[in-house]
Amino acid sequence: MGAVFRETGVKMTDEIFRNDGYVFEFEGEVMSVDGEWVELGGTAFYPGGGGQVCDTGTMGGFPVTEVTYRGDNIFHKVPGHPFVVGDRMWCSVDWDRRYDLMMGHTAEHILFNALHRQDPDINIVKIYIGTDSKYVVVDRDMDLDKIGEAVKFANTVIDDNHPVIKSVMSRDDPEIENIRIKLDRIEEDEITVVEIGDVDIAACSGIHVMETSEIGAIFVDRKVSAGKGQFAIHFRIGEDARKASMDLANTCLRIIEDLGSKPEDIVKTVANMKAELEMCRKQLKDTLTASLKNLAPMDINGKRVFAAVLNTNDKTPAVDAAEVHRKDGDITAFVCKGQNISVILSSGDESIDCKTVISEVLAQFGGRGGGKKDFAQGGLAATVDADDVLKALIDRISS
Ligand SMILES: [Zn+2]
Repeated sequence: MGAVFRETGVKMTDEIFRNDGYVFEFEGEVMSVDGEWVELGGTAFYPGGGGQVCDTGTMGGFPVTEVTYRGDNIFHKVPGHPFVVGDRMWCSVDWDRRYDLMMGHTAEHILFNALHRQDPDINIVKIYIGTDSKYVVVDRDMDLDKIGEAVKFANTVIDDNHPVIKSVMSRDDPEIENIRIKLDRIEEDEITVVEIGDVDIAACSGIHVMETSEIGAIFVDRKVSAGKGQFAIHFRIGEDARKASMDLANTCLRIIEDLGSKPEDIVKTVANMKAELEMCRKQLKDTLTASLKNLAPMDINGKRVFAAVLNTNDKTPAVDAAEVHRKDGDITAFVCKGQNISVILSSGDESIDCKTVISEVLAQFGGRGGGKKDFAQGGLAATVDADDVLKALIDRISS
């Protein structure tokens, strides 16, 4: 395929994928070569864009590992290629990968439309369509019940097999107001618009499937915070969606069985367990706080030293008590034994440098500590004997 020239006479790559997303084999002609990078007159390799990753494949039997724009022209990274300008060769896009990306990209239009129906104030921040993962980042949180409703609607759109039709609109067309578009991100006067039946219309120059049923199914399997009040909603498509939904359902069933609950009761069971756990934690904390108040100090060289091994994951009561003793001019050494071991050392006595003591003593046990002269903390692996650590701290304070 020869080169295409713009009205200005500037050469630009003929983008076969724009006219037909289903062409995956073609004859390419080398326009230029820059090391590993090869420019063709026309190409069916999508260079990526709008959050969708680029195609890969082969060129004359050599692997194409990356495709990218340089200005209006498309370059293919073909490590080890022997090509020179004018060479013609058979090129092949990795179709399984490309089709997965096309389906994923079309599914993203449908999913966002469905989320938008649940919350008209929601906006897309960005999208990512790769073979490893697919997600939309939105600017508001949405609860899982609403996401569930959106996914149901999206699957109806897929099942109803709506046509996906591309057209071109003028930037000045008053109808543009009814379209999902970020005009500030588009420079061209002619805007490519993608219509999914009577369900969705959006400005997009990416590559889509022809009919929604090709996507097969869509399933949201993850919602994660993306910072700044934003959330990434991850989704799966096709066979992958069916498999992911079954795997996740099975995981849920295992948890339901472990908790001795039933599918219809599990939400309530977990809420009750969380409330009970919260209550137990509070009781433990209150008990520990009370027992620390009654802890008698040791006398070491005429100094009052509060020392103990405490069985607790929550070290806040110990930190609070150490702070009180420090203000009273006393010394505190607590070793908290929970999932890991935490060490707290405080001193209201000038002669003890907590930072030095804690780092030296914890180093003996393969741990680390730090802080200030009058207050330091550190951590150790759960396998270390807490009593040995406390003994070493007291020995060090005594000397
Ligand atoms: Zn699109």
